Amino acid sequence: MERKGVIYRIQCNGCKMCYVEETGKSSRERIKQHNDDVRLERDRNDIYKHIRDTGHLVDWSKVKVLGQEDSAVRHNYVYLKLSFNCTIWNIG
Ligand SMILES: [Zn+2]
Repeated sequence: MERKGVIYRIQCNGCKMCYVEETGKSSRERIKQHNDDVRLERDRNDIYKHIRDTGHLVDWSKVKVLGQEDSAVRHNYVYLKLSFNCTIWNIG
């Protein structure tokens, strides 16, 4: 059975900024990748750049899965943006 991707949100603890992304991998795997990027200070990662530039922290335990990539969620990023009161950093 083919595994569907998920849409998830990573929220900054220091401000209303959040990162919404779609991934074909499991969200756990992708989040670990972000976590490693931040830990290893990789510039290519938007989350790391935000942390570096602001000194804010991200609580990885608060990452929220918003839905499957084929659900209505995918077509409603504007709604997401409004309902979660955050700036979308990136949509994969
Ligand atoms: Zn922040």
